[in-house]
Amino acid sequence: MRSLTILGATGSIGASTLDLVRRNRDAFRIVALTGHSNVVALAALAREFAAEIVVIGDEARLPELREALAGSGIVATGGAPALIEAAQRPADVTVAAIVGCAGLAPTMAAIEQGRTVALANKEALVSAGAVMTRAVAQHGTTLLPIDSEHNAIFQCLAGNDPAHVRWITLTASGGPFRDWEFGRLAKATPAEAVRHPNWSMGAKISVDSATMMNKGLEFIEAWHLFPVGVERLRILVHPQSIVHSMVEYRDGSTLAQLGPSDMRVPIASALAWPARMETPCEPLDLAEIGTLTFRRPDEVRFPATRLAREAVVAGGAAAAVLNAANEIAVAAFLSGQIGFTQIVQCCEDVLAYGLPSSPQCLEEVVAVDLEARARAREAMELVP
Ligand code: NAD
Ligand code: MG
Repeated sequence: MRSLTILGATGSIGASTLDLVRRNRDAFRIVALTGHSNVVALAALAREFAAEIVVIGDEARLPELREALAGSGIVATGGAPALIEAAQRPADVTVAAIVGCAGLAPTMAAIEQGRTVALANKEALVSAGAVMTRAVAQHGTTLLPIDSEHNAIFQCLAGNDPAHVRWITLTASGGPFRDWEFGRLAKATPAEAVRHPNWSMGAKISVDSATMMNKGLEFIEAWHLFPVGVERLRILVHPQSIVHSMVEYRDGSTLAQLGPSDMRVPIASALAWPARMETPCEPLDLAEIGTLTFRRPDEVRFPATRLAREAVVAGGAAAAVLNAANEIAVAAFLSGQIGFTQIVQCCEDVLAYGLPSSPQCLEEVVAVDLEARARAREAMELVP
């Protein structure tokens, strides 16, 4: 039996993870579950899975959570320091599934325990970069990617020497606007942007998929996870989202991982690694799907992946700045304060301000993140 902590249990990845746990009750024991503000959902999950402890990020909701858990014997805490304490509890596997840089400190705390961290929270790795990968090495932590592309690459690299890699190709669905004319993009609404054609996900990553910033962040994530060099990483648009990524070796062999567009597949791969576990996903019926297509990304309509590549090349604080500006811009777009194409424009503007010096520890990453957020609000003339 594996003990499991889920940071971000009330979200889309949290729900997919707990669905697998529900179907494999004998294989997992829940240590900690966290959520941000949805007390009802968090309390229900805590009771269902008999969690040892639950944490609500928004501390103001803690009395409500305690009331909802009265008589259950489950410990309830709240606020950012409590998230970190929960992540420090011994658990065989911690699923890092908080959205955005809000997940950085708890994810780092889990990494510092030296066990296994299954990473969905790509923003944390993009922002902290070498600070995180150094902590992974220093504490002997096993970092397993849940992001479907990186999970695919991880599987395709198994047993191979990365020195033989010619290309790592990240596939991208292209998002809901992949066939839209440039002129129409400026008028895209939040409702249109979150309606992803293939995947059901949280609002922030859905908007990132629409701008292609999701692929940009994933490019940076891949650069950290699979150090083959920026020139060996590329992106291919694959509208069917069946091939989740591929690795081509110097002998001309290309290995790909295929599967349904269901996050339970990569999550199961991480939860059971190095073994395999059952998922309820339908077997892949390629005859039914019939056609798999691929095309090059269009960085004129979708410049986000260019910005990400430039951030990798610039190094230092660039990726953290890009991520922070994007988080602020996506929130501003979702609340109707800016238009769709202004999201990536804001990121480019903030990067053009010039970069703070390279962060060397978690506190410095957080400082860079905060500064870039302030600049993003300034660039968009938002009220702070
Ligand atoms: P979501 O919005 O559905 O859920 C986010 C979770 O984080 C929730 O539990 C929420 O309560 C919690 N949270 C939000 N703000 C918080 C804060 N300030 N403090 C503490 N907790 C907070 O998001 P999601 O789609 O599940 O995505 C989670 C992460 O996984 C993201 O980094 C995303 O990029 C990544 N990811 C998601 C998918 C997917 O299919 N959903 C696929 C690949 C990667
Ligand atoms: Mg992905």
